[in-house]
Amino acid sequence: MRRVKTTCAYCGVGCGIVATPTGERSATIRGDESHPANFGQLCSKGTHLGETIALEGRLLHPEVGSRQVGWDAALQAVADGFKATIAQHGPDSVAFYVSGQLLTEDYYVVNKLMKGFIGSANIDTNSRLCMASAVAAHNRAFGEDVVPCSYSDLEEADLILLVGSNTAWCHPVIWQRIEAAREQRGTKLVVIDPRRTETAERADLHLPIAPDSDVALFNGLLREMKSRWQLDGAYLAQHVSVPEGFWDMETVDVAKACELSQAQLDAFYDLFAETPRTVTLFSQGANQSVSGTDKGNAIINLHLATGRIGKPGAGPFSITGQPNAMGGREVGGLASMLAAHMGFSDAERDCAQRFWQSPTICAGPGLKAVDMFNAVADGRIKAIWVMATNPAVSMPDANVVRAALAACPLVVVSDCIGDTDTTAFAHIKLPALGWGEKDGTVTNSERRISRQRGFLEAPGDAKPDWWIVSEVAKRMGWVDRFSYPNAAAIFREYAAQTGFENGGTRLLDISDKTDISDADYDAMQPFLWGGTSPLASARFPTPDGKARLVPVRYQARDDGALDYPLRLNTGRYRDQWHTMTRTGLSPKLSQHRREPLVEVHPDMVARFGLDDGGLAMVETAQGNSVFRVASTDNQRRRDLFVPMHWTDQTSGGGRTGLLPAQDRDPVSGQPGFKNTPATIRTWLPRWTGFLVSKAMPAIPACTYWTRVRTAHGWLVELAGDDEPDALLSLLPACNRAEMSDSRRGIMRAAVVADGQLQGALFIARDGGLPPRDWLVEQLGGEEAATLELLAGRPATPQADRGPIVCVCFDVGMKTILETIRAETLTSVEAVGSALNAGTNCGSCRPAIARLLETERSPVYA
Ligand code: SF4
Repeated sequence: MRRVKTTCAYCGVGCGIVATPTGERSATIRGDESHPANFGQLCSKGTHLGETIALEGRLLHPEVGSRQVGWDAALQAVADGFKATIAQHGPDSVAFYVSGQLLTEDYYVVNKLMKGFIGSANIDTNSRLCMASAVAAHNRAFGEDVVPCSYSDLEEADLILLVGSNTAWCHPVIWQRIEAAREQRGTKLVVIDPRRTETAERADLHLPIAPDSDVALFNGLLREMKSRWQLDGAYLAQHVSVPEGFWDMETVDVAKACELSQAQLDAFYDLFAETPRTVTLFSQGANQSVSGTDKGNAIINLHLATGRIGKPGAGPFSITGQPNAMGGREVGGLASMLAAHMGFSDAERDCAQRFWQSPTICAGPGLKAVDMFNAVADGRIKAIWVMATNPAVSMPDANVVRAALAACPLVVVSDCIGDTDTTAFAHIKLPALGWGEKDGTVTNSERRISRQRGFLEAPGDAKPDWWIVSEVAKRMGWVDRFSYPNAAAIFREYAAQTGFENGGTRLLDISDKTDISDADYDAMQPFLWGGTSPLASARFPTPDGKARLVPVRYQARDDGALDYPLRLNTGRYRDQWHTMTRTGLSPKLSQHRREPLVEVHPDMVARFGLDDGGLAMVETAQGNSVFRVASTDNQRRRDLFVPMHWTDQTSGGGRTGLLPAQDRDPVSGQPGFKNTPATIRTWLPRWTGFLVSKAMPAIPACTYWTRVRTAHGWLVELAGDDEPDALLSLLPACNRAEMSDSRRGIMRAAVVADGQLQGALFIARDGGLPPRDWLVEQLGGEEAATLELLAGRPATPQADRGPIVCVCFDVGMKTILETIRAETLTSVEAVGSALNAGTNCGSCRPAIARLLETERSPVYA
């Protein structure tokens, strides 16, 4: 059987995968033992990629209006629309909003078209929402967007600081490498995060800092290291430029600003002082902030001043969210960069223009994501092309983006999915290849460039993104400069640009690949540009060769209006990815969290009169949305946490993007998703219910609903105030058995055909509903007795395994707890031996560790 080595579609760890096609649209997936990012490991998302490659929901043909057309007509319509807009309103009246899901070759072509041929820099990427602040911090400190570390540093460090990173959920294979290193060499772990996540629970020290107080903490640590004579004077003198007055630092009361005890701070300071080999891994919790760039520089300042950089096991290490955010940064896919790590000086623009042999060149930086959609809203931008992303969901204050797209004269969307919240606004839809079909390169968080290879046939009319953009460019008049025969040709051109008139001024230089043959490109092995430690020479890509300490000051955030006394934080779930267009197809991955939860401290549950497990409306100045309440003391008292994944296609609530404001970092333009003034109130629907269905049910007409995949169909949670009778239309129209009691507000119906349950609906006014799992199983089982179906339970009661913890082996929380008790288990490994849980991808190992802790220190209600 043909085995293809490729890379994972999801996070910035960039794991290598071996895919073996087993049919037209199926494949087995396993980790690539030879890939240096993961050495064969995969997390739950990567492991279950095979469940997401069927054609369900795919956009297969170009559409203009809602009419299917051929490629020629669609491409001509895009080219004509963009040309006419530019002719009438100038190059800045058009824009591209692209994605860290694109391959480097796609990114290269669209960046070249926009900046060199259209002549505007209005191209930005959803990576703006992810790590633009880290990019800006690198540029300020090092003179170039260079990540100083590689993954091997995590194995050589004696101390790892995780800042704003739930690594166990969001970068699970990195987490596994950290855990292995801790076991082997006793690496100490400090987690700096307002939430007590599964990552934080495993730390030697967890600092649950107040939101956005990171600058105060790291400035305080730097001050403390100076007072303890722990700075590296020789490194500072030789390799770092220190601006005058830098050491006249603010004297903020760190404990007060961070809302930590002095004992916690002292423990942190002591650990740092006595452990020179330190890596600080920072992620979205640091970046997605109105002070994200300053946070990055506060971290980098500390590493530069203590000489903990450019050495094995030491350095500041930004880790990205998306599979190719780094590739986008490299080619210039951000509005704030030109190309190949060049900026917008006259010399750099001239260099890029001569390299591209282009008729024009952009004059300066373009509009960053939030500003871009605001320009669409106020009519400055009249044509926008959205590629492989879903801004109608993911942008802050997403209703503004929706209104902007609705009013925009020309919206083009190229995507592999047909119906998303963003394609709903498209005048032209272009079908792009998806993961498993496309071919090119990606760069992971440690600067490792790997091949992503296709192993599935292109479905329908779908084409590579680079091909779509190139064909439009040709129709706009630039045939010669966009006639690429394949992705390899684009890679060669990009590689050549990194070396063009570089002369050692930029560390990004892969020009040794300029002449790579198609065959060698096809066989290309993963490689690190810049090597494992690109700053090891301590020669920085600045005019004087020195790094910069950047003065940064902690700024306390206004506590907000009395109407919004809480702080809203947003983030990811372990088994879902972005807006779930792909992970939502996987029944396994859909088990871990079936609904969007708002996590609330128990004190606030009581104070706001909420019901744990009930529904609540989360409100900010921008909007509101309904979530399921989860009471947990893992939250700080005044903080709420909600997930980012749910959309109009999957839920009538959980719409997180509607809630944050457009406030953004003044340097990077990255929005502050993690600290929005908010409030919460209970929402008591007249009735609640759920539906199980073999076929995908239509979107229900009720206030709250969520629709998730199950092994044999769908599970839809429901709640509303209007009469629920209309929901019966969600069931197939045959052989319906019904039971209702209007006095008690109960309605139950089940439809059986060909000996199998096709669907069942349960509605109750008092919330008394049967458990879901047995009914969900009946969609794929033998026919159950009608009375059992309407009761929602088998005549012989089944064991309740509780919420699923291990999705690989379908092991529930109650099963694990009972086994721990019955067999007196004391380790994650012992639970694995007993139940298999945690022995495949390992993503649930922190959750199992948490259950073991619970059993060691039981909490009795
Ligand atoms: S950690 Fe998981 S999601 Fe990230 S690249 Fe690896 S397998 Fe994919």
